[in-house]
Amino acid sequence: MMSESKICPLCGSDQVEQTEKLETISDSFGESTEVKLAYDICKRCGMDGDFTGCNNSIIQETINALKSQTVISILQYFSDHNVNFAGMERALELPQRTLSKWKNGSITPTAAGVTLVKFLRLFPWLTIVAENRFHLNTPLLTHIIESVKKISPTYGITDDIGTSAPIAVDAEYTCITLGKTYDSLRQDNAQQERIDLAWL
Ligand SMILES: [Zn+2]
Repeated sequence: MMSESKICPLCGSDQVEQTEKLETISDSFGESTEVKLAYDICKRCGMDGDFTGCNNSIIQETINALKSQTVISILQYFSDHNVNFAGMERALELPQRTLSKWKNGSITPTAAGVTLVKFLRLFPWLTIVAENRFHLNTPLLTHIIESVKKISPTYGITDDIGTSAPIAVDAEYTCITLGKTYDSLRQDNAQQERIDLAWL
């Protein structure tokens, strides 16, 4: 690869020094990796860069691999939090075992699938939205509760008569499994003592 001579796109010289440089490529969800990219320097005019454009495909392949890794990491996170894939697939009307196949890499999700998984990681209650046939009552309440939890510095929640209760910070799934209503969340709040910042 290094032996093929390259031509400087600026001055046309073939006195091109071909080197490589390490660059970190990140996807939008925080996964990143280092790749070796071509870095050419014209000894005659000083022009530098990727003279043949060969880096483009490397970068694109890397980004695709990062997206796959992001999906796998998120689904592993769901697994670690005992999220029921079958229930999630039902709610989202995905074919059975879709999430498992995405997780074990046997199927690569489409771009839309990647985005869906990212949204689910950020807003797990979207599953509840789907379960409720996209009616807003419970989902909206859940959204408000989740938002309050995210922004509250004390990780507490205050009910309508002003009573504050500590909540489990890890309640993004607790809230799904424990009741889906403000009342049940409030009841559970009093019992929740575990503070788990892992989701931050
Ligand atoms: Zn040149």
